[in-house]
Amino acid sequence: MSDLYLYNSLTKKKELFVPIKSDSVSMYTCGFTVYDHTHIGHIKKYVGDDLVKRALQFNGYKVNHVQNVTDVGHLVSDSDEGEDKMEKGARKYNLTVEEISRKYEKEFYSTMDKMNVIRPNIVERAASDKSIAEQISNIEKLVANEYAYVTELGVYFNVAKLPNYNPFSNQNLEDKLQGSREGLITHPNKKNNADFAIWVFRKGDHANHTMHWDSPWGDGFPGWHIECSTISMANLGERIDIHTGGIDHLEIHHPNEIAQNYGICGHDVVQYWMHHNFLTVDGKKMSKSLNNFYTLEDVISKGFDPMVFRYHMLGTHYRQQLNFTWESLAGADNAYNILIDNLFLEKGRMDENGEINIDYSDKFLEAINNDFNTPQALAVMWELLRDKKVSGADRFVTVMKFDEVFGLNLKSKVENLSKSVNIALPEEIKVLVESREKARKDGDWKKSDTLRDEITSKGYLVNDTSGGQVVVRIS
Ligand SMILES: [Zn+2]
Repeated sequence: MSDLYLYNSLTKKKELFVPIKSDSVSMYTCGFTVYDHTHIGHIKKYVGDDLVKRALQFNGYKVNHVQNVTDVGHLVSDSDEGEDKMEKGARKYNLTVEEISRKYEKEFYSTMDKMNVIRPNIVERAASDKSIAEQISNIEKLVANEYAYVTELGVYFNVAKLPNYNPFSNQNLEDKLQGSREGLITHPNKKNNADFAIWVFRKGDHANHTMHWDSPWGDGFPGWHIECSTISMANLGERIDIHTGGIDHLEIHHPNEIAQNYGICGHDVVQYWMHHNFLTVDGKKMSKSLNNFYTLEDVISKGFDPMVFRYHMLGTHYRQQLNFTWESLAGADNAYNILIDNLFLEKGRMDENGEINIDYSDKFLEAINNDFNTPQALAVMWELLRDKKVSGADRFVTVMKFDEVFGLNLKSKVENLSKSVNIALPEEIKVLVESREKARKDGDWKKSDTLRDEITSKGYLVNDTSGGQVVVRIS
């Protein structure tokens, strides 16, 4: 296996990836809070996870991928304030919490399917009986290990018990607590402002919370952070290779997971933390009030294939902000279609079986293994497609291999194009193609060439293959 380097948010450095087991990788990705629509910002994050997973598989690792579904406990503010997002969603759409949860979970995975995102090996709902029991058991450990304390409103994690709460931040703990003391007034039930709820009682603001369970401390529901610690460790064990999320999780959610993991196990659990940057629209944060809030359905209804959107995302490194505009998507559409046409023509020229070109394959792997540099990997692909010293068949086979990482569905697009080509031909073109077929059979190459020119002048390109003529529209 060749060396793979990835940027670890903990050390803020690109590090050589050394998995715990030599041939497999355990990977946990924070899942979706299923209270509203999946938007294109979510898609960027989960396509980013998918690229990491595909790149690991390309390197020969078996990836054991676990993801949670957040269907309880994620409050409107990540720092334990406001109501549960699930309750808010249910009220907004006049549905029950269960209905809202199933509806948006379904929408999320159907969106991911359309984006060609490989489904995780295990998806676990936070509110499932199994997970709730496991979360309670972890909270019991935290209380027993004196990392957690019980208050009037719930069970809280005491961040001051840790030598370094929030290892992503350079601030020292003293400074973090300093800030929190000033904020104590707003959190009368906490010892430190950064302390967070791991179990919330069904009282006060949450007196009418729909989902609640018995616990050794009282009737209530789990906090958002404990579900990720619990679901990751329950399925992947106390040592996990990679944990991913959005950069918005660097502030609260992931430091809290690390804190809990330490309190439960007495050691760090995750080796590499990876964070995806945001998507902006027209350079601004996406929001309904700015009228720049889009879902995949919006992208599709404007005539763009989901794979065009995926291609668009590959052009920006996952740690960079992706600026989405309809113009940039149109540019991606153009490039993607040229790519498919190119591949279609290479496929047309395939009289022999192609072989993977080692030089380009090495360059591709070098790009991918340099912290998943997809813009560079795309550049390698285009360089290969332009390199006429490599045979068409080899170019085709090599790009198909690259697509195991890109996930652009190239093979089926090219096949569908070949199916649609002959069906879509207008009568006039069909007649010319048939006459040319006859001329070729008769060995009348001059007539065949004249007919080819005539077909080209009418906006179609004819290409001779071992399987006969194939025709594509060029204008
Ligand atoms: Zn999480």
